[in-house]
Amino acid sequence: MFATALSQLRYAAAILTNRRIRPKDLERLARDLVATIAEFGEPGEDSALLPGRSAPVDPTVRREVARRSLRATATTAARHTAHYRRQFDQLDLDPTQLEPEDWPRIPVTPKQALRALPAAFVSDTATPALMALTTGTSGTPTAVWFSRAELECAIAFSTISAVLGLGLRPRHTVAYAGCSRATLPLVNAEESATRAGAGFVQFGTLTPAVALDRLAAPLGLPGKDPQITHLTTSASYLAALVQEAEHHHWQPGDFGLTSISVGGEVLSAPLRRRAEAAFGAAATSAYLMTEILPAGATPCAHGHLHHTPEFGHLEVLDPLTWQPTAPGATGTIVHTPYVPYRDCTLLLRYATGDLVRLPAEPPTCELAHLPATSEILGRWNGPLSATVTTREILDLVEAEPHVPLPARHALTEGPDGPEGPARLHLLVDRLPATALRARLEERAHTAGLRLADIALYEDRAAMPPTTPLRADLREHTFETSGRR
Ligand SMILES: [Zn+2]
Repeated sequence: MFATALSQLRYAAAILTNRRIRPKDLERLARDLVATIAEFGEPGEDSALLPGRSAPVDPTVRREVARRSLRATATTAARHTAHYRRQFDQLDLDPTQLEPEDWPRIPVTPKQALRALPAAFVSDTATPALMALTTGTSGTPTAVWFSRAELECAIAFSTISAVLGLGLRPRHTVAYAGCSRATLPLVNAEESATRAGAGFVQFGTLTPAVALDRLAAPLGLPGKDPQITHLTTSASYLAALVQEAEHHHWQPGDFGLTSISVGGEVLSAPLRRRAEAAFGAAATSAYLMTEILPAGATPCAHGHLHHTPEFGHLEVLDPLTWQPTAPGATGTIVHTPYVPYRDCTLLLRYATGDLVRLPAEPPTCELAHLPATSEILGRWNGPLSATVTTREILDLVEAEPHVPLPARHALTEGPDGPEGPARLHLLVDRLPATALRARLEERAHTAGLRLADIALYEDRAAMPPTTPLRADLREHTFETSGRR
């Protein structure tokens, strides 16, 4: 596989010298990888050179790459986008001379700025091709324009990560149970699966009973495993599927699943366990976000998320002061996706709102050479969201069979005001649920959650408003008549 080795070496060299990577090179890389697997059954030994799989790089080299990437990205944004041109005019900062210590002088870009005027972040040299709309569970959707070249990059990266990370092979079939209007993740999933030679089917977010029937149905296809092998979905829709499977006594043997990929929402530890028990497949959750694509993060065996430094710059900052978060403390992810991977919508220090904790001690895991945070804890929407995080709530409540999935919960101020312990409101299947309440209180206490008390409800309308979930974006089918 001389050609593969060659293009991979070129790729690694391009990262280190910050030369422009042509989408064609990445496509070739992905194609070569698929060809290697078709011929030898496994990726070549040289796959260690692939994106995100790189061996530890000399810290001096890494710092130099970051310095050049930050400068190149800031310079391009200041020259070619209306938003950053105006910002740099006011800053008295020459982006072409930018040093890493100047970086904090660039103001953080709030989500609202991008949401209000997406075109102000589009480079005047770009050819916008696709407007990706986020699902907007946190309010109005955010629009991000991508060029055709960026899409090709993203698809090539997804193909490589599906083949190497998920072990996707031509005998597999992927079902995508995500909202059909989220074009970018859908196109990405479909293109990467089929380029890897696997089958692909778009479910959308159907009534869970219909989705389970389709997952269990025999495929009867030449060269393919007998049933769907891979499922890609959001955590809340997975929760709805688990609820349906447990309630109607589906068995893991009814399905042919080997892998469940969850994205976009917090996948709690108990939901992961229940999903793995219900479907007999491993469930994993990586971190991908439309705005910062193709940068993202991969989980490790020690429970960290490791962020790929090749494609963007990660900062973890306090959401109120924008000061760096100390080791062991909680902050939000602020991200700068690098040129040349991005050439259309350019973002500097973009405030994702995603809450993470920084490890108290330097990691010692297999990915210790990559920057690490905790898994995503939830989304910042005021101090209450950090008092008790979504992950802490879901870890507490999704372990309980009498809490209907996906769990419906809300936090309000406790008796000691916004700084004190919060009050948790939770929907349960029936009241009085005395034993459940005792168990929740006991477990919340043991886990050290800052909860003043827990209010249980049988009627969702009586609760304070709960967070919208992706599972709520239900798509109707004519099969649904007569079913829930
Ligand atoms: Zn780790």
